[in-house]
Amino acid sequence: MKKVVKFGGSSLASAEQFEKVGKIIRADESRRYVVPSAPGKRFSEDTKVTDLLYACYEAAKEEAKFKAILEKIKSRYQEIIDGLQISLSLEEDFEEIKENFKNQIGNEYAASRGEYLNGKIMAVYLGYEFVDPAEIIRFDGNGQFDAEITELLVARKLNTIERAVVPGFYGAKENGEIKTFSRGGSDITGSILAGALDVDLYENWTDVSGVMVTDPRIIPNTKSIDTITYRELRELSYMGATVLHEDAIFPVRKAGIPINIKNTNAPEEEGTMIVEDTCKKPLYTITGIAGKKGFCSLFIEKSMMNAEIGFGRKVLQVLEEQGISFEHIPSGIDTMTVFIHQDEFAEKEQQVIAGVHRTVNPDYMELESDLALIAVVGRGMRSNRGTAARIFAALAHANVNVKMIDQGSSELNIIVGVKNEDFEVAIKALYDIFVDLILHKQYNQLQLDIHQDLYRLLYLCLCVQKCIIKYHFYKRNLRVEEEKLAF
Ligand code: ASP
Repeated sequence: MKKVVKFGGSSLASAEQFEKVGKIIRADESRRYVVPSAPGKRFSEDTKVTDLLYACYEAAKEEAKFKAILEKIKSRYQEIIDGLQISLSLEEDFEEIKENFKNQIGNEYAASRGEYLNGKIMAVYLGYEFVDPAEIIRFDGNGQFDAEITELLVARKLNTIERAVVPGFYGAKENGEIKTFSRGGSDITGSILAGALDVDLYENWTDVSGVMVTDPRIIPNTKSIDTITYRELRELSYMGATVLHEDAIFPVRKAGIPINIKNTNAPEEEGTMIVEDTCKKPLYTITGIAGKKGFCSLFIEKSMMNAEIGFGRKVLQVLEEQGISFEHIPSGIDTMTVFIHQDEFAEKEQQVIAGVHRTVNPDYMELESDLALIAVVGRGMRSNRGTAARIFAALAHANVNVKMIDQGSSELNIIVGVKNEDFEVAIKALYDIFVDLILHKQYNQLQLDIHQDLYRLLYLCLCVQKCIIKYHFYKRNLRVEEEKLAF
């Protein structure tokens, strides 16, 4: 068994967190390739080291500010080194970093130092070999990630090393110029290594116990999902569920490797398994609920629209010309509605309206803003009747007006559009009907079972008591008979 394990910034924000991580890695021999992030926040008002590095690089020309931020960064790492009581000096590294910042060699280089330095500490702490991703994660001349060469380089280098620490988030072009992935990109590094080394599992350790059924800011005690497919996760992530970088799915999915999201602060919890496919039935019919605010709709009406070939294409072409992507297009016989991100649309709305008039000459058009989209996602919907009925019953009971409905033929999700102000109420109503109700039912069933067991126990006690009384009665009678006989 071979695993790649990636630890997020909050899991490595302090010496205390490093110790938890060390325990986790040492508890399982198969955790052979470790991908650390840069130190994250230690408390909610804290600053991530990556953000400090960006700020420090920006301040390179203001000596005092530059020095102050650099000192802050240094002390973050020194605190970890001291706390772990390891012998390591980052003095030389910091001298080099200072020089490179002054020479402004690039802010991606600057950001990458967060992972680089944390990786150095981690390697010494664990006694693993340190491998600089600049050697094995390759970007092409245009700065695009080069999957093919990277796969070769990773396999060639790491297959000869038993245990290694490879910092996340960055790689390099062939000429050595450091490039980073987008923010949160250490997830991608872990996934790339897992795919290239063909490991059995990619563990992604963070500060939550997996992917949540819905947004914990709306439902504070929301449950985590035990198993989710890549497709379901993609639907939920697209709608705002953020636990893993979107681009981290592809390398492992291609290789058929599952991802296990785990909690560094509660390692005993199972977390969420992200898999290609599974026979496991989701606990609540649905797998998750996610949504986003900030959409608007463009309603277009024209008599005989259904007979006008190319009508839809022409409308979408207007959007394309303005560089606007659309989300959903529910349509009727003579009507069509296009859902668009409001902020994208706001700047170009008049051009779009004029363009639609020009190209399809509609009878009527109407814009509606401040809409939210909610996706109810689950592979279990295909084999269950009544999911849509439950969704709309829940929303009706919660007094939420449904503006749009969209269910793909894959039956993986049902998307509803509501007003922004109804968003939270709608999510709560959906969570109640699909998750809370089931949990309540399970709870009630458990109570019922306990009551039944108690009644059985009571009945048994009464029977035993009756037997004891009978026995004593019989013995007493026997004694009386004997006494009578003796007399
Ligand atoms: N440290 C980087 C960030 O803050 C990358 C990562 O944590 O994955 O975005």
